[in-house]
Amino acid sequence: MEIRDGLGLSPRKVTYLKYFLERGSTVKTNDLATRFDVDPSTITKTLNELSGAGLLILAPYHGASLSPAGQLYAAFLVKRHRILALALTHYGLSDEEACTEVSRFESLVSKHTIDRMCQAMGHPSRGVCGEITHDTGCLGNGRRPS
Ligand SMILES: [Zn+2]
Ligand SMILES: [Zn+2]
Repeated sequence: MEIRDGLGLSPRKVTYLKYFLERGSTVKTNDLATRFDVDPSTITKTLNELSGAGLLILAPYHGASLSPAGQLYAAFLVKRHRILALALTHYGLSDEEACTEVSRFESLVSKHTIDRMCQAMGHPSRGVCGEITHDTGCLGNGRRPS
């Protein structure tokens, strides 16, 4: 799965992919179930869907890790959160408020918009909750991919 418009994932899947990136290695189904307080059978179903989309590689003994495509997608998801949160701090929200608020709607914002915002903000290197990375999307001409 390519990133395309960045809108193909549910908020729950967005959260999982970001967690995989944060952990940086294979995550066990039971760890995910505990971390997100969800039934392991539900987690397994979601992991299978993410694997079917090419974003995760399922591991033996009930776990998974990010595929190369999944790494790219997760990096975009983290960037989207940080660009949006940084923007909100410019309009009076504290760092913590911005992170919480953005978590409510970030999955609805397209990659095109994030790339344009990153350009307009001058490619900031730090967000309120970590480093912001740049890719050919925001560093390029910002046109919609044809
Ligand atoms: Zn944050
Ligand atoms: Zn940028």
